[in-house]
Amino acid sequence: MGTDFRYNTGATRVPWAAVGENYNVHDLMEIIAFLMQGEGKEYDDAMKAVWEQVKKLEAVATPPGKLSLGSNVEAAEKACNEYLGIDSCAFVTNATAGFEIAYKYAGLKAGDEVIVPAITFVATMAYPLAIGCKLVFADVDPKTINMDPEDVARKITDKTKMIVPVHIGGYPVDLDPIMELAKKHDILVLEDAAHAFGAMYKGRKIGTIGDFAAFSMHEVKNITSFGEGGIVTTNVPGFAGEMKRARFLGLDFTCPIKDWLYNITPIQGKHEPFVAGNYSTTEIQGLGLKLQVARNEEIIEKRRKAAEYLTKRFTENDAIIPQDLGNDDIKPTFHLYLLQIDPAKAGGDVQILKKKLEEKGVTQIAHFGPLYRFKVVQDMGYDSDEIAKTCPNCEEVFYKRFTHLPLYGLSDEQLEYMADAVLESVAEMQRGE
Ligand SMILES: *Cc1c(COP(=O)(O)O)cnc(C)c1O
Repeated sequence: MGTDFRYNTGATRVPWAAVGENYNVHDLMEIIAFLMQGEGKEYDDAMKAVWEQVKKLEAVATPPGKLSLGSNVEAAEKACNEYLGIDSCAFVTNATAGFEIAYKYAGLKAGDEVIVPAITFVATMAYPLAIGCKLVFADVDPKTINMDPEDVARKITDKTKMIVPVHIGGYPVDLDPIMELAKKHDILVLEDAAHAFGAMYKGRKIGTIGDFAAFSMHEVKNITSFGEGGIVTTNVPGFAGEMKRARFLGLDFTCPIKDWLYNITPIQGKHEPFVAGNYSTTEIQGLGLKLQVARNEEIIEKRRKAAEYLTKRFTENDAIIPQDLGNDDIKPTFHLYLLQIDPAKAGGDVQILKKKLEEKGVTQIAHFGPLYRFKVVQDMGYDSDEIAKTCPNCEEVFYKRFTHLPLYGLSDEQLEYMADAVLESVAEMQRGE
């Protein structure tokens, strides 16, 4: 991002950088205690020893002058660029903020149509819903519960401005047909890659294929930057640099401070300029993200192993349809394990299975339900039942066939217990219990 012009004022007796309070060693200890929680004598002793050492820093250390959008944010972006094999990305407050930049670029207006999958999280559609666009819900492919490209093709109209494929659970959407449709109809594609940092589609990294993509580094995703964060990428020629300005109110850090009044200009969108918002991230977040990106392959590998184990166990009962583990063309991140059942063979639908799993102490992940059934969508004037008729697969898989299982950080015993619980529950259903 170049130097931050706000601090680049040349040789001064009275510098401008000192405009905010720093953190001191007492604060640092609170932060360590927050990040490394524990109790008991051993923990207390260890903390006391840390405090003795940390106190010594006061005399010799200098607090950073810069806490926002500095070299650590830049380093996190560089790590993501290298990992994704791209030239530039922007580290923003969260994926939702990244989507907003893409939506603003598209210049969406009330009445424009945006195609989203019937199953996703509200974040995907928050911006177009807020500004009065018409959300059009594409039905899902029952095998992957991702957006079905054939239904997207049926639902494109001359008002369609964007298509937003969501790689649910980190399983790549079949993007080729979607990109082809988008090209044919001059529609922008925004990948919701919240779950899919590191997933691959036909030899390419997910999040580098659509016109825009955003990954989430929220605390419940595969990697995090202290609880919140997002990486937004673009393939729009010439826009990558503009995206950095779009992240922070249109400021250009490379220009001298005296030009500030004149150099904050609108961002050039697809058809017209737009005014940037503020989605800046902190140096602490940047450092946190850089460290986690370096471990991402290792994390995916652990998740893949857990998924392989479950899939192998679930072949014992043909009423269970295990998660597809991918192939040379499709490499998921295994953010969630997609467990499906065949209700006819299982002797009941997934609602019964979910209840049984809950009774056996297996967490039920809060679900990616039909988007058109969310109250916020209904209250904005959408008729859920009418939309449901256009999404028959979504209705079938959500109410009867699928659930998600957690995959990460489980011990071998917990993983085995979860597999046993699923197998036992389905066997009970088959016996009519
Ligand atoms: C978490 C999530 C988001 C939002 O990510 P944030 O970084 O929290 O904004 C978007 N889409 C899906 C499918 C998600 O699960």
